[in-house]
Amino acid sequence: MAEKHAALITGGSRGIGRAIALRLAKDGYHAIINFRVNTAEAQRTLQLIVNDGGSAELSQFDVVDRKAAATALEGLLARYTVEVLVLCAGIRRDEALVFMNEDQWDSVLDTNLSSFYTVVKPVVQQMLLNRNGRIIAISSTSGESGVQGQVNYCAAKAGIIGAMKALALECAKRNVLVNAITPGFIETEMLSGMDRKALAQTIPLKRLGTPEEVAATVSFLASSGAGYITGQVIRVNGGIYL
Ligand code: NDP
Repeated sequence: MAEKHAALITGGSRGIGRAIALRLAKDGYHAIINFRVNTAEAQRTLQLIVNDGGSAELSQFDVVDRKAAATALEGLLARYTVEVLVLCAGIRRDEALVFMNEDQWDSVLDTNLSSFYTVVKPVVQQMLLNRNGRIIAISSTSGESGVQGQVNYCAAKAGIIGAMKALALECAKRNVLVNAITPGFIETEMLSGMDRKALAQTIPLKRLGTPEEVAATVSFLASSGAGYITGQVIRVNGGIYL
């Protein structure tokens, strides 16, 4: 029998995922921080939560590796009631389609989109049995509009929105609510190599967003106050109209 109420955050070790893990731990969840390779950053996130009086643990698995993910998730679900699942693991490998190699296409689709099936399927089974759960997928503004050089990333992030909407319909009867957040430009390592000043000028609020601003929206969607919201895309993008 599972013992603690937990929030699982894929890609919870750095950037937006770290802010989400910290915030959900502050909200009282046992934060399960998934990551792939960067143990030092994951440990840092864990330490920040513990220092803040929260409860957390690390869960290292590659969301692309179906077997490894299934094994890790089976172990977690045996120990915890996962009330909140945040799908945040993501990568980008930008290239114009005519130059894009198969690995750039496959890795972005596998990490950002196919992981939806791999991670959500076992977790939502537990949520449906408990008739309680919140799933929040981190998509992107890129999934709502086309961006040059991101045919792979836009396809994956748009796919998440479609998957989220269909799953929301499948789960609504059992009080499992499924939503997506589409962040605009958020200050993390993912923006490395981009001209942040120039980017800021394209945003009505004239600045990049912070991971904490995305985390605040996750916290709301996980809260009882969001109990009548499902199948929705919540934009956290500084006022960009699409
Ligand atoms: P970061 O690059 O800062 O962090 C990525 C996180 O995902 C890390 O924790 C990383 O772990 C993890 N991760 C990557 N691949 C895998 C994998 N195969 N299995 C498990 N974990 C993995 O990214 P951001 O915080 O910027 O982005 C987080 C999410 O938000 C992504 O889905 C991204 O697409 C989305 N987003 C980001 C925006 C931005 O402007 N930053 C805008 C819109 C959406 P490790 O370090 O171990 O690899």
